[in-house]
Amino acid sequence: MPEPSDRPHASIRPRCARCQRPPGHCLCHLLPHIASRTQVLVVQHPDEQRHALNTARLLVNGLVQAELLVAEKLPETWCARLADPHWRTELLFPGPDAQLVVAASEDQRPRRLVLLDGTWRKARKLLYLNPVLQGLAQVTLPAGLSSRYRLRKAPMAESLSTIEAGMHALQIIEPGTNFSALLRPFDALIEGQIQAMGRAVYQRNHAGPRPC
Ligand SMILES: [Zn+2]
Repeated sequence: MPEPSDRPHASIRPRCARCQRPPGHCLCHLLPHIASRTQVLVVQHPDEQRHALNTARLLVNGLVQAELLVAEKLPETWCARLADPHWRTELLFPGPDAQLVVAASEDQRPRRLVLLDGTWRKARKLLYLNPVLQGLAQVTLPAGLSSRYRLRKAPMAESLSTIEAGMHALQIIEPGTNFSALLRPFDALIEGQIQAMGRAVYQRNHAGPRPC
């Protein structure tokens, strides 16, 4: 049975069912098919699913073991999964109690990484509305990782897109696998956006002051 998030939503323009891009802009041929040992679950705030840079969907579609849920309040089935003690489930989200995400550990349980996709405000709302998310161990990425692109207003200089955050976290958890191909469709997406808005506008608005 399809997940609720996989139902095609009403749209004026036709879109690729998989990557949600309009015809002629499909990115599916760039999607890798990476088999991570870690299961990745992305909870996407409903406000985020129509955003042009839906990087959560690209992350999930580039991985064999990943799922996307579009919801503000998690359904019972997901609450039960996330609370399952047979899994080591971690929430990638910064906070005072968040530990750095690590690779090896004494814990032999299969790993599950949960990401929240949305603006900071919406991600915090997801956390607030879902006690099961609050109950998860929080992990965070090491400092110093900065987004390759700045197309969205982010309150923190180091804010990464969901696909970048997921890629970096998986790379730390599973250093033996190369996850960099996950960013291939993201790179193409950004390049397309830059071309669409015009390079001059991009330079002025997103690339910062140019050296004299
Ligand atoms: Zn597509």
